[in-house]
Amino acid sequence: MRNLRVLFCVSEVAPYAKTGGLADVAQALPVALWHLGCDVRLFMPLYRCARDSIKTFSILPAPPTISVGVHDYHVGLLETRSTSGLPLYLLEKEEFYDRSDLYGTPDFGDYEDNPERFITFSLAIRSLCMGLNWFPSILHLHDWQTGLAAAYHHFYWRHEPDFANSRTVFTIHNLAYQGVFPGKYFHLTNLPWEAFSLQGVEFWGNCNFLKAGLVYSDHLTTVSPCYGKEIQDSEHGCGLHGVLQERKDRLSGILNGIDQAVWNPGTDSCIAANYNSSRLEGKRRCKDALLAEFGFSKDRSELPLLGMISRMAVQKGFGLFLDIVDELVNLPLMLVILGAGDAEIGRMVQTVAARYPNNIRICNEFNEHLAHRIEAGADMFLMPSVYEPCGLNQMYSLRYGTIPIVHATGGLNDSVVDVQLEPHSGTGFKFYHYNADGLLDTIKAALSFFKDKGEWTALQRR
Ligand code: ADP
Repeated sequence: MRNLRVLFCVSEVAPYAKTGGLADVAQALPVALWHLGCDVRLFMPLYRCARDSIKTFSILPAPPTISVGVHDYHVGLLETRSTSGLPLYLLEKEEFYDRSDLYGTPDFGDYEDNPERFITFSLAIRSLCMGLNWFPSILHLHDWQTGLAAAYHHFYWRHEPDFANSRTVFTIHNLAYQGVFPGKYFHLTNLPWEAFSLQGVEFWGNCNFLKAGLVYSDHLTTVSPCYGKEIQDSEHGCGLHGVLQERKDRLSGILNGIDQAVWNPGTDSCIAANYNSSRLEGKRRCKDALLAEFGFSKDRSELPLLGMISRMAVQKGFGLFLDIVDELVNLPLMLVILGAGDAEIGRMVQTVAARYPNNIRICNEFNEHLAHRIEAGADMFLMPSVYEPCGLNQMYSLRYGTIPIVHATGGLNDSVVDVQLEPHSGTGFKFYHYNADGLLDTIKAALSFFKDKGEWTALQRR
């Protein structure tokens, strides 16, 4: 008998819809909770990409309309099974979710009706539970897209007998994305006026969906302990550090994990050869295949190959990368970059890659399989994020024997042990001062470590 019922309400779930690590966590964490004995179910919008990739659905009884401001929207609810067999429910509303992207396009930015899209999704949580006659013990909400559900629970749902025993947990995957909209949108939420206050969703005259999650949830979590502390200071708090300080007794930092079935070099079907920590030979073949795929000549295969897989966003450190690139290309290394997102950053990185074709190659797209091939084929993984709530790629890198070079911040700091400080237990290289010298010196240290094959192999095995 599974006693704890968890409804995982989230705006993306891999492999159906993904822009970043949130989707990976939404795929992996519910399964882990299921193994711990919870009755876990997932709820997400039916985006076009999800509709295209999910083969079989059943249709749940249609809920009554959902009221957003003065509009009453007809929606549909569908049920399927996630890749790991858990119940996955989807909110159907073509006008809102049947689009090329999840939240906006690289060239035109966020969709203008994102408030309506995610108010509707948040309100539909109640409709889903009523339709199923299944009420969660824990309503697990994630990021700004579901922040308002905490407010609906606080003001309305928890007063209903069916929800009387449910509690809300809100996980901050990235505090920088807050879903902030002009105050005039508040009327769309149908929350009581008292919610539009300093203690509520009001934020400098605007309506802040993430803040709703922060102030109205029963408990808050972040995706790493270090980030949980960092966001309580003004440098990392994105204007909400005061709110977080007030709620610090209700805030836990829990390091994300990875799905070891999806990210396993021993079984990964996307990569040229399988390998594991005791049989690393296959990794060499993965490197050769990756070099060929990016058009690097085979006779350079003794040079270290660095990989980057990233959303194209300022957060990911492309500014610092562009600062050092002219010096970087003088070092004995090659670099492959896989990135999608901000069009302007993409163009800048493409320009430098075109300038230095002997050293840098870039693939400017979102390509899940290529991400696996880079993790397997690269010797080192570069992650110079300005800040990083958790970061998953450094953990995938650890799993693939691909040594991470990271800025000592947030989850990068929590998950990588600096081999420069801990020679026998270290797992990667960290830089502590966020400037060109800090990053370049650390890359140089990694390159010099790479020359000692014995030490390097020991590090990879760890
Ligand atoms: P964030 O969520 O901030 O983007 P994370 O490191 O937590 O960063 O997670 C990023 C996830 O998205 C990883 O699974 C990574 O492999 C994937 N990813 C990022 N960019 C791309 C891309 N261009 N192509 C394929 N996968 C990508």
